[in-house]
Amino acid sequence: MERRCFFRNLNGMGKGFLAEKHYLCGTMTIQEAQERVDAWIKQYGVRYFSELTNMAVLTEEVGEVARVIARRYGDQSSKPGDDLDLADELADVMWVVMCLANQTGIDLDAALERNFAKKTSRDSHRHLDNKKLINQS
Ligand SMILES: [Mg+2]
Repeated sequence: MERRCFFRNLNGMGKGFLAEKHYLCGTMTIQEAQERVDAWIKQYGVRYFSELTNMAVLTEEVGEVARVIARRYGDQSSKPGDDLDLADELADVMWVVMCLANQTGIDLDAALERNFAKKTSRDSHRHLDNKKLINQS
């Protein structure tokens, strides 16, 4: 079954540019995504890059996200031929994160659950009490 990804329903996010393209995907858990990345690496990638190389690649991909953000939401203008596909760049970041998780034995589903618990415990009032966040858009 084909359907559009969740972000089409997010008001203010992606309107006008994400809607230009069809991002077709099914539902996929983080675990399934990790398994698909692993299968892809084994089929097409020969082996994982070293952790240090993937750390460099992650930095590169985060930089590509920053380039899109700077041009789309920041003050920098686009160059002719710029490909400003934020969704694709974020997916590149996720891909490398999953590579690093796979090669270091990390279950990102479990890690994200623990992270939610940590943030909720630590920050449950922090942002609500932050006056800087109120009445600013
Ligand atoms: Mg990229």
